[in-house]
Amino acid sequence: MGLGSEEGANGNIWTPETFRSNIIAAVKSYSIVESKLPMGIDIGRELMGIGEEMLQSSLADPHKRERWRIAKINLSGEMEVDESDKVADISNPYNSSGEWYQSVNRSKLGSQYDQYELPLFDIHTHPLDLPPSGKDLAAILYDGQGEAELIFGPQTSYLVLRTLDTQLLTLEAVKEKSAHWTNLVKERYKVALQHARDEAHYDALAHKAALAFVRDVSKKYHLPVFTVPTHRSSTFTRAQF
Ligand SMILES: [Zn+2]
Repeated sequence: MGLGSEEGANGNIWTPETFRSNIIAAVKSYSIVESKLPMGIDIGRELMGIGEEMLQSSLADPHKRERWRIAKINLSGEMEVDESDKVADISNPYNSSGEWYQSVNRSKLGSQYDQYELPLFDIHTHPLDLPPSGKDLAAILYDGQGEAELIFGPQTSYLVLRTLDTQLLTLEAVKEKSAHWTNLVKERYKVALQHARDEAHYDALAHKAALAFVRDVSKKYHLPVFTVPTHRSSTFTRAQF
C-alpha cells in the first residue's frame, strides 16, 4: 500500500486527520511515497499549539535549552503526545537527548504492533531557529525513531518525513552518521565565520550553509522537508530548496 494518494478534503493538502492516519499507517508499513506527497500538510492546531508552547518554554529558559516530546500510537491505536517536555542537558542545550535511540526497535516486534506503544514522530524545539541538524536527520534513519520529525523554531518550523525510499540504518551506523554530519555542519559554520563581515552576516551565512546541508541529505536519503512560518499557520508546505 502506498500512502500519499489519499488526499484530504482540501485536495492537494493533507488534513490533520489524513496526516495522523497516514503517519500511523506508515509506522506499520513504511509506506509514505515521496512522489505522491501533497504540496501541503496541515498538522492541526492542537499539535501546532503543543510545539509553540514548547518553543515558548525554550525561549523563556535562560539557557535556551531545547524541549522535546514523542508522539506515539497508544494501545488503542490513537496518536498520543507526551504531556510534558523533556529538557536538553544544560551542558549541551542545543542537542536533544540520546534517549531517542532507546525507543523500541520495531523490527523485533514481528506482527505484534498492536501490543506496543510505537513512536510516530519526535517533536522538538530549535530556539536558535536553525533547520534540522545533522543529528536530527541521522536519527530519522533509525528504525525505532518513528516516521517523522517536527521541529519548532521562532521563525520557521520544519516537518521531515521518512519515505518508502529512505534507506534505514543500524543504530551503530546512525551514531556514526550523526557524528560525521555534525562535524560537517560545524566545518561549514567555520567557513561562514571566515567570510562574515559582522554578526548578522554570519547568521545569514550559517543559516544558508545549514539549509544546503538539509537539502543535500533530503535528496540523497529521500527525506522530504515541509516548512511553515511559526505562529502563522498549521499547514506546512513542501520546501523548494
Ligand atoms: Zn534538532
